[in-house]
Amino acid sequence: MLNPKALVCPRCGREVAGWAMTTCPMCATSICHRCAYQAYGRLFCSARCGEHFFHGELDEEEDNDGEG
Ligand SMILES: [Zn+2]
Ligand SMILES: [Zn+2]
Repeated sequence: MLNPKALVCPRCGREVAGWAMTTCPMCATSICHRCAYQAYGRLFCSARCGEHFFHGELDEEEDNDGEG
């Protein structure tokens, strides 16, 4: 049964209550606590976001083929 306040986690596709969802402070993605990556006492949508959040700047990807 779908609850009006329930949200669907984009990662696992499960229906979870609003309180069980957390918003990634890095990319504002809503994700359930089960899928969230916990780092430094915070919850992120992924380990990548957690690292970037504290590292500040995004490391350049392997090889960026810039055109022009
Ligand atoms: Zn999930
Ligand atoms: Zn994120």
